[in-house]
Amino acid sequence: MKSTAHAFKDNAHRAMQDPQLTRALNKFKTGFPMKRAQAVAALPEFEALRDVGKAIKDHTLAHLDLYLETFERNVRAAGGHVHWARTAEEARSIIRGICKAKNARLVTKGKSMVSEEIGLNASLQEDGLEVVETDLGEYILQIRNEAPSHIIAPALHLSKEQVADDFRRVHTDLPADRRLSEPNDLLTEARVRLRNKFLQADVGITGANFLIAETGSTVIVTNEGNGDLTQSLPKTHIVLTSIEKVVPTLEDASTLLRLLARSATGQEFTSYTTFSTGPKRADDIDGPENYHVVLLDNGRSALLGTEMQEVLRCIRCGACMNHCPVYHAVGGHAYGWVYPGPIGSVIDPAILGVKEAGHLPNASTFCGRCESVCPVRIPLPKLMRHWREKEFEANLQPKAMRYGIGVWGWFAKRPALYAAAANIGLRAMAAVGKRRGRFKALPLAGGWTDTRDFPAPRGPPSRNSTGAAAMAEQSNAARDGVLGAIRKAASHLRDEAAARAAVEQRLSAHARNLLPARGQIPHAERVELFIRMAQAVAASVERVPERSRIPQIVADYLSVHNLPARLRAAPDPELQSLDWSGLPTLEVAFGRGEPEDQATITLAIAGIAETGTLFGASGNDAGPTLSFLPGTHIVVLPVDRVVGSYEEAWDLLRQRQAAKGLGMPRAVNFITGPSRTADIEQTSLVHVHGPGRLHILLVDSAADAPPQGS
Ligand code: SF4
Repeated sequence: MKSTAHAFKDNAHRAMQDPQLTRALNKFKTGFPMKRAQAVAALPEFEALRDVGKAIKDHTLAHLDLYLETFERNVRAAGGHVHWARTAEEARSIIRGICKAKNARLVTKGKSMVSEEIGLNASLQEDGLEVVETDLGEYILQIRNEAPSHIIAPALHLSKEQVADDFRRVHTDLPADRRLSEPNDLLTEARVRLRNKFLQADVGITGANFLIAETGSTVIVTNEGNGDLTQSLPKTHIVLTSIEKVVPTLEDASTLLRLLARSATGQEFTSYTTFSTGPKRADDIDGPENYHVVLLDNGRSALLGTEMQEVLRCIRCGACMNHCPVYHAVGGHAYGWVYPGPIGSVIDPAILGVKEAGHLPNASTFCGRCESVCPVRIPLPKLMRHWREKEFEANLQPKAMRYGIGVWGWFAKRPALYAAAANIGLRAMAAVGKRRGRFKALPLAGGWTDTRDFPAPRGPPSRNSTGAAAMAEQSNAARDGVLGAIRKAASHLRDEAAARAAVEQRLSAHARNLLPARGQIPHAERVELFIRMAQAVAASVERVPERSRIPQIVADYLSVHNLPARLRAAPDPELQSLDWSGLPTLEVAFGRGEPEDQATITLAIAGIAETGTLFGASGNDAGPTLSFLPGTHIVVLPVDRVVGSYEEAWDLLRQRQAAKGLGMPRAVNFITGPSRTADIEQTSLVHVHGPGRLHILLVDSAADAPPQGS
């Protein structure tokens, strides 16, 4: 994305003259803050959780190299690939290379701010690929050729009339006089249009909210379900993410997830939270065959060990912009780049440089609201002051640097001469640096070597390299560069042996951090809490006294909702053991979900009382196609599987997998209510890309339970 951050004043002036934007911002500035306040009030431990969240991120950043190496090892052990990218250009080139190797023509994308940061879409389109954004807000912006104006509500600046005009302009195969006056009309049209893209895509690209070192998992949260279809249906799944997203354990991620949704949208939990680990296993019923993770640095490692390190705690919740009076006045586009609001004013200068984005920190009243709501307690005003100082200092740029850049510019305009000079230089550096493999100091490179070693080149780039070999070579060099920079920053702050011991201890302990008291109650109350929380997010719950009655209850449910008497069922032994034959009019087929399925039934591993969340995993008996493709998803939950917290669900999963001799499943899904969005005029709508109905059959009786171990 091309930056106009330098033109903030002009951008802001234009924004304030835009009546539609002003209307949208007026609605926005009360909506999100009010919902966050309600969610925070409902969780007494919220402030303590902020402290724990900060501590998790601080610990991880102090050991970032070790956790990234662990993450990389575990992704590989699960059958995935890890690619390292120092810069946006390297990340683009890796992803282009993967798409080319797979002969991809159509790429679907889940929402990813890092992909905006590196300008991925344009580079893939240059290769002739069709790239389709699948988050509703991002799709609307793509057809308008616009950038997001908010990191979690990308199209909040638009009216439904503007969206309707865009749909009429672009969806020209549909009747011109169709009704598009209501947000739901627009949602239905987008759903149908995007469903075909999900089904036809060769590659799916998502971002990641967190990376889990202990398991090599990537985590995405969405409300629409587009991320799950993006990563489950194509043969290749690419995760584009940045290095600071890693956390040690599933428990650490669970703590941060408690903070994320409440801070972002005021939800107790996002509709869908998915942990993905490697490609489809041999006997899985669905999932991608290839799984790649691209780890981007793009200036982040240079912040470690500096006063700016704290910004790397950011979990991209957007709360700082939701509460910022300047953002409320000018919106996100005025900031001129990917990350707007207070977090943008801190991170944009770090990535774009002070010359381009150094003015953004001046766009603050220093009221401190951003810091007061940040879930990981980033001192945003202090960091903005830091950039103000840097902007001032920028006028004192040394002559040597200006001269050096001038010489580089002269060569860069003469590619042949540049290549020859670079070859000579690389050969000389490779010869001199061969023994140590790195330089502690280099003339004119003090800006780099003051804070990290410079890896010695292995000689000029080979012109005979194959695409895959060149990619691997580049990734290895990037890996050395990124990890080297992190180690250099950490080396004077830690004892290596103690650091390794601390990491080992944390990875093996699975410490539960802080569990909300609301779920730590007797089982009967826990079940009542689960029902209340599930209903609060628009799931329906039906008590089933005996499991043998499930088939009849399902048939009745389909009939009441005018659905065909056809059901796709997960090939789970417990569901297969039910007597479906007593209902000759109900057609039941076991297997993976298919696009034509209107209703599916699956079995949950657990129900989590604290948020009314269902917990399931992929395998030979279940998979995301069953949970995300149909309009109606019915879930069987035995009452004795209702647990209090996410952490208890992780324990159940670990026991279940260990009993089967398996590691982490390819996909673990937390499902909290039906698919939803508020991307059109902040109107809450259900049934976006995932099911519009979530019906839970809570089975009471253990008397006719199936044999153990099924
Ligand atoms: S700085 Fe804090 S409040 Fe802002 S997006 Fe990041 S985590 Fe959220």
